Amino acid sequence: MMRLPPFSYLAPVSVPDAVKLMADHGPEAMLVAGGTDLYPNMKRRQFEPSVLVGLRGIRGLAGASGSARAGMSIGAGTTLQAVSAHAEIARHYPGLATAAGLVSSPQLRNMATLGGNVCVDTRCNYYNQSYEWRKAVNFCMKKDGDICLVAPGSARCWAVSSSDTAPMLWSLGASVRLAGPNGERVVPISALYRDDGIQYLTKQPAEILTDILLPPAEGWRSTYLKLRRRGSFDFPILGVAVALRMDGVTVREAAITLGAVASQPRPAPAAAAVLVGERLSPELIERAADIASKPARPLDNTDLTHPYRKKMTRVFVARALRQLAGP
Ligand SMILES: Cc1cc2nc3c(=O)[nH]c(=O)nc-3n(C[C@H](O)[C@H](O)[C@H](O)COP(=O)(O)OP(=O)(O)OC[C@H]3O[C@@H](n4cnc5c(N)ncnc54)[C@H](O)[C@@H]3O)c2cc1C
Ligand code: SF4
Repeated sequence: MMRLPPFSYLAPVSVPDAVKLMADHGPEAMLVAGGTDLYPNMKRRQFEPSVLVGLRGIRGLAGASGSARAGMSIGAGTTLQAVSAHAEIARHYPGLATAAGLVSSPQLRNMATLGGNVCVDTRCNYYNQSYEWRKAVNFCMKKDGDICLVAPGSARCWAVSSSDTAPMLWSLGASVRLAGPNGERVVPISALYRDDGIQYLTKQPAEILTDILLPPAEGWRSTYLKLRRRGSFDFPILGVAVALRMDGVTVREAAITLGAVASQPRPAPAAAAVLVGERLSPELIERAADIASKPARPLDNTDLTHPYRKKMTRVFVARALRQLAGP
């Protein structure tokens, strides 16, 4: 049985206190929300913080406010279960409710938070292993080693962005509010990520994600489809997040974002562009799905084979668009 290493747990009750604790403790500290990803990673020694700054005691970090008409704010500490069951979110941002409701299993969704899902670590078959397993293959550059075992000549890590909600939030045009030692800032979710398996977030370590901000949803339809080996529990090996603003049967705006195909969510703007100003005919859907599968370049470092995952991108985009086109 894998055990947690020793660590100190600090329990601030306000965001400024949490920011200060993170700044005071520097690189030895990490934030923890639901802990559903962080604690397993600590057991496998992928993370080795000596201090954890817990966010669960911060009042006001959980809950959602606003409306589809004005836009919504969801506290980073809101559980995925609460996001998926929230009436306004489920009705007007159905892709987000679906994505949150497809993460892992019910037990985890009751602990896991939206903020933790947005910030969740990238994944790779050579990294998400016990310390002994990783040691046996001489580690890799994401933790304790020097080279990439998936692409040995590569100077970078290709670990895969595996959050279900991140691609959907990207398609919805969401932003995040960050609180840090220099105050607060709001950044588009697309600017929160970078295409690097190790430094996959642009935020500073001491910055805390406090809110996820959704723009007004009137006129928008959204959906999220997830590929995984088992119907529950598993991380995505492909996520397809589509949002369309409709005017009757005509598409006025479109966003298609792919999850689990790169180290960050991967938008497919060329595919979205062919939809604008058009009706969602079967021919157009096939054309857009074809174009959308082009930016998906899955590597051989998650479940199932990467050629299969690439082929499924086309299939899933077409399915998502057919779903949004209605009967
Ligand atoms: C068996 C299993 C299956 C899983 N399946 C899925 C899946 O299908 N899809 C999926 O997306 N995830 C999955 N996960 C990963 C994880 O459960 C979810 O991503 C979850 O939403 C993480 O949220 P959390 O609150 O538990 O985050 P934590 O584990 O507490 O933290 C995750 C990361 O986010 C950081 N963090 C947390 N909150 C904040 C904040 N407010 N500001 C800044 N940084 C923050 C932490 O420092 C840490 O780096 C799975 C995990 C397990 C163990
Ligand atoms: S992509 Fe390469 S460096 Fe990154 S976790 Fe996998 S093996 Fe390690």
